[in-house]
Parts: sequence; structure tokens; C-alpha cells
Amino acid sequence: MKFGGTSVADSDRIKNAARRIVAAREAGNRVVAVLSAQGKTTDALVSQANEISERPVTREMDMLLSTGERISCALAAMAIHDLGHEAISLTGSQAGILTDTSHTKARIVDVRADRIAAALDDNKIVLVAGFQGVSTDSKDVTTLGRGGSDTTAVAVAAALKADVCEIYTDVDGVFNADPRIVPNARMLPVVSFEEVLEMSASGAGVLQLRSIEYARNHGVRIHCRSSFHDRTGTMVVSQEETMEQPLVTAVTHATNEARVTVRGVPDRPGVAGELFTKLADANINVDMIIQNESMGMDHPAEMTFTVPKDDLAVALDTLHAMGEFDDVDSDPSMGKVSVIGAGMRSHPGVAAKVFTVLGQQGINLEMISTSPIKISCVIDGERVGDAVKALHDAFELGVAEEQATGDFRPVAP
Ligand code: ADP
Ligand code: ASP
Ligand code: MG
Repeated sequence: MKFGGTSVADSDRIKNAARRIVAAREAGNRVVAVLSAQGKTTDALVSQANEISERPVTREMDMLLSTGERISCALAAMAIHDLGHEAISLTGSQAGILTDTSHTKARIVDVRADRIAAALDDNKIVLVAGFQGVSTDSKDVTTLGRGGSDTTAVAVAAALKADVCEIYTDVDGVFNADPRIVPNARMLPVVSFEEVLEMSASGAGVLQLRSIEYARNHGVRIHCRSSFHDRTGTMVVSQEETMEQPLVTAVTHATNEARVTVRGVPDRPGVAGELFTKLADANINVDMIIQNESMGMDHPAEMTFTVPKDDLAVALDTLHAMGEFDDVDSDPSMGKVSVIGAGMRSHPGVAAKVFTVLGQQGINLEMISTSPIKISCVIDGERVGDAVKALHDAFELGVAEEQATGDFRPVAP
């Protein structure tokens, strides 16, 4: 059972989570709960670091950020004791979450769950601090990237061969658009790994991308549901288990994108390889890439790509250090809107409709990229909300007004 930040935001909510954990135990299950930091704790810690230093040392950043989830776990263990059950809280390192050494976005390389298993055998409820691990090489504390507690939960579920990994959050499940932006968004009772991977990769933050990859690779069942009531939420299932393949399943968005344009890229084989190897070595996830055709031999090309806004400074440093280009230009305030659906694989015309709808809204498309089941457009960050709503309407994805109960609406953090 994983509880996100809003679900443990204050003492009452910690007690509420503790009650749910205890109820699951009393129903005869062995329970491991992974908790996030309370409310906006991680954001507050990031701001504090940025007040101290313009570029905080990443090792120390991880020491700092990992404290948030430890607080939640210790408090929840106390609450569970008061409910008459034995509980033990563990840091990521104590829980055996082993990672590589890429501080602030480490990848889990192994989970040695013997200590968790022993505590379960001892009839204890185990609380694991999410979002963190320990590097096998440096023995330093690492964190798994924003939203990383989802991945902790899935990895622990895989290591213990759990029946299910329940992700308790502040909405009813995975919706066909962010319910904070589209009030009549519909919850998806089931969603395929393939589609939810694309949704997460294109900005739907409800499940961390790596948690879905990990679950798919290790055969973990994910049930994403609300921590505020008992109704079932969204089951993530394999493609074969999904009954229908609608043309469009969801509209997603991201507002944390930055555009980088490199002018005067020498027109010779190997340059793109060098450029993107340097960015990969700096641990930067490049998303969309466009290169224009250079006009004839020896003419320099122009390359445009997007990176997460947080990585822009490092990306620009890396490019300047290469010293091979005429000019590097960037815009930190881009947004992205995407339309996703397994059904679009066999249907032409979806892209045309997406572009037409956005055009009618007067929204300019700066970049476009497609996969067999996704169309993404980079647009002005300010227009993202309008774009999502217009596309959600145009593909008729909303619940009818009389059916909208309103009780799925997100809870204030
Ligand atoms: P937690 O703290 O529980 O991990 P997150 O904030 O990481 O919660 O994720 C839940 C939030 O994800 C919701 O409040 C919602 O605003 C947002 N969200 C974005 N896209 C979607 C979507 N397609 N379906 C559900 N929630 C979404
Ligand atoms: N607390 C971390 C974050 O805010 C991890 C998580 O909540 O999943 O990103
Ligand atoms: Mg989250």
C-alpha cells in the first residue's frame, strides 16, 4: 500500500492512512506500506536548498530530500502502535533498496527485501520510506526522482511477490485527463500498461513513469485508488486484458518543458551522436528532437529539442562546453499536450483533428512528435489548459454533466 503526499499531509491523514493499513492487516493480509513525504515537504526542502546554493551538490540534496519520507513513516508507525499493532519503519537503505549513484534520479538495481520479509514473519506491519535508496557503489543515500515513491512501492511489491501494489492517492484513479484541469474527466476502470506508460511519459503525474515500467517488467499488478474512500480505482492491465481500444483514451499535458535550439550544427556524420551522448552523460532526458535539413554540403544544420525545465541549466552548460555551435537559444516556458490511444494505430485522421482543434483555439504548434499511439505538440506553456480542455471536448471524452458525481475531485493538498 503506497500513500502519496496529500494522503499523509497532516496528523489526521497519517492516522487515516494508519487505519487503512491496519484494516488491511486485520483482513488477513501481510502489509508493507510505502509512504511519501507529507504534503509539499519535498518542494519546501528543494526551495530551502535553492536558497542556500544556486546549484546544490546532488549528494547532499539526496541527504536532505530523503528526510521527508522518513518523518511520515516514523509517525505512521506510532499511529499503528496506538491502534494495537506492531509496526516498524525503515529507511530505503534499511529496506534494501539498492540503486545506482545518479543522485536525485537514481535507478533501482536490486531490492534485498530480507529485512522486510523477516519483519512480516514477525507479524509486524512494515513502513518503508519511499523515494530513496542507497548506492551499491558509494554507499550514499540516493533519491529516485520526483514521484519516486510509486517506484519504491512497485519494486518492493515485486521483490515480495505481492498480490497487488495499491497506490493510494488524492484522486479516484487514473483519469482520461488531469481532473484538476478538466472537471468532467472520466476515471478509467482499467488502462493498459502501454497506454499508461505513454500517459505518464507525456506528463500525467499520477503514477511515476519508472513505476509503470518496473511493474510491466516484473509482472506487478497496480491498483491506483483514492485514500479518502473505499471504491475501486484503476487497474493497470496488459493489452490483452483491455476489452476495448478506443480511438483516444486520454489527453495529457506537461508544463515543465524547456526548448533548446542549437544553430550552426556542423553538417557531418556523428555530430548528433556526440551532442546527445554529452547530454546523456549529464543525465538529461531529452524528449522531442527535430533537426532541419541543411541546404547542401557543408551547410550547418539547426537542431531543436526539449528537456525538463529543471535540467535546462545543465543542458546549456553542456552545449556551451562543447564549443562547436554558432548559437544556443532556449525558452524555459513551453508546454506539451498529448493525445493517447491504442485505437489510433489503425485510424488515420487523428493527427489532423488534433492540429485543427488547436488551430481553432489560436494555439501555435512549435514542435510535433508522434508514436503509433500518441500525438504530442509543444505549445506555449500558458495555453496548455485551453488545449487540454479543447481536445478532451473534441474527442468527446467527458462524462455527461448529470453523471458527474463531483466526489472524485482532487482534495486540496
Ligand atoms: P501522490 O502525492 O498521491 O503521489 P500525485 O500528485 O503525484 O499524488 O498524483 C496525483 C495527481 O496527479 C492528481 O491530484 C492529479 O491532479 C494529477 N493527475 C495528472 N494527470 C492525471 C490523470 N490523467 N489522472 C489522474 N490524476 C492525474
Ligand atoms: N516526496 C517525493 C516527491 O514529492 C516522492 C513522492 O512523493 O513520490 O516527489
Ligand atoms: Mg506521486
